[in-house]
Amino acid sequence: MKRYESWKFATLRVAVVRGGEVRVKEAIKALIRPIQMQFLKRGMCVACGMPLSKADRVSRDDGTEKVTCKCGRIYIFNPADQSYRRANFNEV
Ligand SMILES: [Zn+2]
Repeated sequence: MKRYESWKFATLRVAVVRGGEVRVKEAIKALIRPIQMQFLKRGMCVACGMPLSKADRVSRDDGTEKVTCKCGRIYIFNPADQSYRRANFNEV
């Protein structure tokens, strides 16, 4: 019985630790997201800060441009509203 209880306690602790990690990651993401939005608004790479106007551009069928930063991050530029966003997995 005692052994079972300590096992239960151990799993509970693991669950708390894992939950804590998730919460920390969410908090970091919540902090970083507005900063990344500001970078994209100014046309800068969120990872290295390079102006994306200097990055390689390839026109896409839908009128947008695929922009590849020198650090490897890929963005989609929309000429209609002059906005950048991170490329989705299937656009890379
Ligand atoms: Zn970059």
